Amino acid sequence: PYNGPSAQDVLLARQTHLSAGQYHFYSKPLMLVEASMQYCFDDKGKTYVDCYSNVCHVGHCHPHFVASTSATMHNIISNTRYLHPTIVRYAEKLKSKVPAELSVCYFVNSGSEANDLAMRLARIHTQRKGIVCLEYAYHGTTGSCTGISTSLSTGTTTGTEDYKYHARDVYVAPVPDPYRGKYAEDPEAGRKYAEDVESILQENPEGIAAFIHESVQGVGGQVVYPRDYLSRVYDAVRRDGGVCIADEVQTGFGRTGTHFWAFEAQGVVPDILTLGKPIGNGFPLGAVLTTREIARSFDGVQYFNTNGGNPVACSAGLAVLEIIERDGLQQNALEVSQYLIEKLKELQEQHPIIGDVRGVGLFVGIELVRDRLTKEPAKEETARAMEKCRDNGVLIGKGGAFNNVLRMKPPLCFQKEDADFLVATLDLVLTEVVAYFEAKKQQTEVVEVRIRNGNETYVNCESPQTSQAGSQRDNRDHHRITAPSISPLQRKLTFS
Ligand code: PMP
Repeated sequence: PYNGPSAQDVLLARQTHLSAGQYHFYSKPLMLVEASMQYCFDDKGKTYVDCYSNVCHVGHCHPHFVASTSATMHNIISNTRYLHPTIVRYAEKLKSKVPAELSVCYFVNSGSEANDLAMRLARIHTQRKGIVCLEYAYHGTTGSCTGISTSLSTGTTTGTEDYKYHARDVYVAPVPDPYRGKYAEDPEAGRKYAEDVESILQENPEGIAAFIHESVQGVGGQVVYPRDYLSRVYDAVRRDGGVCIADEVQTGFGRTGTHFWAFEAQGVVPDILTLGKPIGNGFPLGAVLTTREIARSFDGVQYFNTNGGNPVACSAGLAVLEIIERDGLQQNALEVSQYLIEKLKELQEQHPIIGDVRGVGLFVGIELVRDRLTKEPAKEETARAMEKCRDNGVLIGKGGAFNNVLRMKPPLCFQKEDADFLVATLDLVLTEVVAYFEAKKQQTEVVEVRIRNGNETYVNCESPQTSQAGSQRDNRDHHRITAPSISPLQRKLTFS
């Protein structure tokens, strides 16, 4: 069992040593001290199903990932100015996963760095400055990325004044949101949203360098664009002399199940592709892939990145690609996500608070509303639901234009049993949340909520004491851990 400093001590020490802006989740912050595949363990030994980490994409501490990365670390971590075979082995393998046009790789340390470099490439190639991005976008934390991360200006993330200092030469197009956007539910929405981008191009006679987009919007609330949107925008941008940048930091590496990259579902090939998060399964790594022609425009720039693509990072990247293939993770994402989305749609029928269920593959969102007709965002309810999920052993996130979308993007080893547990927990939590706000209105309070799911009963509990994952952890180094072996399911009471 864990015997290091308590969560409270760590929280206090953070206040002394870190800035308050380095925020954490939850009113009672969670301290995770161990993890295995799709499960995490806190300092008290409680188990959580991780429904949120698209970083530990192939599974937390996956044995092949750990072995392969640490073997390289035992040998060498060199400066990227020296040759090492891993970088080219990895580049070759990564290129086998992308359209042939994207034949040149740059390795960096994060998604933000990848997007920053992508904009440099676009600007030097087109000799133009302007960048078009979408509303509620998130592209990273460098100055240049902050300027196009429009979610920051709206408070979708933490809200920051800082955004306005960086948003220079930036033009914002409406997000093509089929549920809440300005052409929601219009069968011509793809064309109309694309025309909004064309209007921006026409209003800028000096031309724009690039259009940058997430392939499915993440922080903005798991927004899946109309099918013909990107192809129309790409045509318009290229006609105008600009290039198209696809940010697959959240959506890449087989997550959508149907494709390896989310842009493929829209029938486009970007000029520049940016990668992060899942690429290194938690090890700092990012990448930019582009065409030989664009890369040539940048060849005169001596590009040096001390750690980006060092031997350990490249081993991490290589291991991720090997595991996705070996464990059949794209296929698993496809099967489990179809099951999950179907179950969430059934849940929607029982919970009027669920306005929309959407997603592609294991990139899923449910939008909470107070009224399905007015679509009034249920922001406070969403915040409470996220906390209550955690209390019940499920880690999820939230986002969206109004912070009213529960976001799910689990590691790709996620199983149907985990999906069942997630859906049963949401059933319980949404029942509790609605009852809580109703009770508050009537100045009373909810004592306990129970729901039945099959032959099991779930009881909502604030600080469950029953889960002692530590005693059940023998199996956790196994390659694939099925939910019942170490699961939070142990907290379910069997109904007899
Ligand atoms: N692009 C997208 C779509 C992201 O979601 C993020 C991170 N949330 C980034 C870029 C930035 O990645 P990083 O935090 O690794 O710099």
